[in-house]
Amino acid sequence: MKPLRNVDLRTLNTFGVAALALQLVELEHEEQLPDICRWLDGRTPFILGGGSNLLLTRDLTEPAIHVRLLGRRYQIDIDSGAVQVVVGAGESWHGLVTWCLEMGFQGLENLALIPGTVGAAPIQNIGAYGAELADVFESVRVFDLAQGTWLTLSHQDCQFGYRDSIFKQAHAARWLICSVTLRLGLQSHGGGRLKLDYGDLRAEIQGIRERKGLGSSTQAIRPQEVAEAVIAIRIRRLPDPARLGNAGSFFSNPIIGVEEALSLQMRFPGLPAYPVAPNDSSSQHGRAMKLAAAWLIERAGWKGVRRGDAGVHRDHALVLVNHGAASGQQIRQLAQEIQDEIQRLFGLTLAIEPRVV
Ligand SMILES: Cc1cc2nc3c(=O)[nH]c(=O)nc-3n(C[C@H](O)[C@H](O)[C@H](O)COP(=O)(O)OP(=O)(O)OC[C@H]3O[C@@H](n4cnc5c(N)ncnc54)[C@H](O)[C@@H]3O)c2cc1C
Repeated sequence: MKPLRNVDLRTLNTFGVAALALQLVELEHEEQLPDICRWLDGRTPFILGGGSNLLLTRDLTEPAIHVRLLGRRYQIDIDSGAVQVVVGAGESWHGLVTWCLEMGFQGLENLALIPGTVGAAPIQNIGAYGAELADVFESVRVFDLAQGTWLTLSHQDCQFGYRDSIFKQAHAARWLICSVTLRLGLQSHGGGRLKLDYGDLRAEIQGIRERKGLGSSTQAIRPQEVAEAVIAIRIRRLPDPARLGNAGSFFSNPIIGVEEALSLQMRFPGLPAYPVAPNDSSSQHGRAMKLAAAWLIERAGWKGVRRGDAGVHRDHALVLVNHGAASGQQIRQLAQEIQDEIQRLFGLTLAIEPRVV
């Protein structure tokens, strides 16, 4: 096994910031893992997927592993009307969503067009448009690079919460996710209930039907239509990293106690706050509310602000962007200024969503 040296990471992180990996291994087969363990020799590696939830503020001096494990297989259980899908960690997430829809498997449609790999999806329990990975997750196969052993973690083991899981805890830094197992519905057997109540999803679907001349159709909505609507909304609202470097939402929505949320709403009328589902582990401190971080940032006057090539997107206060030649440090500095201001104005701590190196 020969690690690559001084690999340019500009095309391997969606912010497009300049950084090198001093040593990097392309992981294409699980059989490489024992060799990789010997190469690491106790050092903690950096595990890289698609680089779409990552801000690099320096070169990667730690040994890097670029996960490119491919493969998809499935097993249908006609009795329960479900299908178990096992997917290699290096597969594209959106590629998986598209394939599942083509195969008649239902459950991923709301998560269409999220960039990145399948292996990174459990790390922050990816979510969008009223759905999250945890809704369809069954288990994950992990290789412990410190011990050289395999683990299978169940849904419960993963401790999923809002943009959170056990993989964010320090001891999990040496766990390399090799494959993810999902349990999906079969469209041919009813598939399960679609999630249509998030924001303007229903209106978008209706709009698409009208443009296709199907406006008066009473036919039940299909998962493909949900995905089509989600894709249309995302393309309209979110900057394409191929044109404008970004990592999606840069800050998570703060979750706070109900009393505190109501008192903030008294002081700042219009502040959006939503109850957190009681089974969400992020609500473990009793009844909780999720606040819209984008509203706070916009209210503090940061939308569209630019510091050199680092900026806040002009239409989307939650998205930090690289207008061209921003360094990771400049983007981090801008994020810090925003965090400080939100703390000062609202007394709230804004947590950063992507991994900052
Ligand atoms: C335009 C845009 C829109 C986005 N929209 C959303 C959204 O709607 N919802 C959402 O949740 N996220 C969103 N994201 C964030 C991002 O797409 C997801 O977090 C995605 O899962 C990251 O995948 P990745 O392969 O690029 O991970 P990377 O950025 O490569 O890595 C992210 C983290 O996961 C770890 N990791 C990666 N692969 C593995 C592995 N196989 N084993 C162990 N650890 C691993 C890395 O070490 C790192 O800590 C968006 C990003 C962009 C750019």
